[in-house]
Amino acid sequence: MKSILDKEFRAIRVEEVATGKFDQQVVTRHVRDLPANSLLLSVSYSSLNYKDSMSAFGNRSITREYPHTPGIDAVASVLEDKTGAFSPGVELLVTGYDLGMNTSGGLAEVVSVPQGWVLPLPRGLSAWESMALGTAGLTAALCVDRLLEAGAVPQDGEVLVTGATGGVGSIAVALLANLGFRVAAVTGKLEAADFLTELGAWKVLDRDTLAPFANKAMAKPLWAWAVDTVGGETLFNVVKSLAYGGGVAACGMASGAQFHANVFPFILRGISLLGVDSVELPIANKSAVWQKLADQWYIGDKLKLIAEDISLEQAPEFLARLHRGHGIGRYVVNMA
Ligand code: NDP
Repeated sequence: MKSILDKEFRAIRVEEVATGKFDQQVVTRHVRDLPANSLLLSVSYSSLNYKDSMSAFGNRSITREYPHTPGIDAVASVLEDKTGAFSPGVELLVTGYDLGMNTSGGLAEVVSVPQGWVLPLPRGLSAWESMALGTAGLTAALCVDRLLEAGAVPQDGEVLVTGATGGVGSIAVALLANLGFRVAAVTGKLEAADFLTELGAWKVLDRDTLAPFANKAMAKPLWAWAVDTVGGETLFNVVKSLAYGGGVAACGMASGAQFHANVFPFILRGISLLGVDSVELPIANKSAVWQKLADQWYIGDKLKLIAEDISLEQAPEFLARLHRGHGIGRYVVNMA
């Protein structure tokens, strides 16, 4: 009799085909080749995040060994649970931890994960919506949470969002606008200004708006708060242009991991640099933020504008787009 270990499934496989050259293809894999974790899950949807594009193009700080199946997000039903906690068919959500980094990831019809990485699909969210949000949505919500904890209220003034057309950026724009904030959306894609306005942006600014601040120790105070998904010099240009007592939730590195700073915005304006991590966040905290996304922060209608369905076969093309910074919104990978 065939065991579940003989089951075949489709998956993206990233392979180093020549030194430093990585290729992404849909291949057939076997369950027996997955890590032996307690939960075996059948994936209905995954999604594409910037980190997946880094893994798909050979960034060894994300993925050490190839061939590899990326995918840091998955919504999936239980095929087998060795712990007995979940019955077959129960829908679970997995984002972050090591999924898709050095553990075979969600860009596949089957994943094997430890019980500590999963959450029941939050009440009020469909499987599709959970992946339209995905790690990007969780991260955007964590950024908003950090700003609110720091005391942000709409009366303070404008909130800047950088990398605004990206996954994290577009969801941050939608969440902040729904909470009544006036959002200044910064983008390198002015042709997508209508998209950002539809999500609720108050104004749309070209990425170059921030560039002149690079030559100054401080800039004019322009924004009360900010969400920065871009990192690099952009992050410190944002810090320099925040008004007294403001803060920036920093989550990304799309333009680079390093920036040059001085202490003036911190000691003269009391600016706060608020770090955000969605990956290793304890599962109970993840669960609480997911439940907010399903309840008071639900952006269901806007998700239909933000997210586009693609097939597993299309994933390589769209991963390349994200890698070049050319993505707009979110890409939900439909395994059907
Ligand atoms: P996306 O690829 O969807 O979006 C990134 C956006 O950043 C682009 O669409 C573009 O937006 C902007 N951008 C890209 N390159 C540059 C550049 N050179 N200079 C300035 N802006 C640029 O990525 P995600 O939304 O998935 O992720 C955004 C960032 O957040 C990534 O760095 C990712 O690693 C990080 N992240 C961090 C998490 C955490 O837990 N801390 C979790 C999830 C993501 P536009 O054209 O509109 O400017």
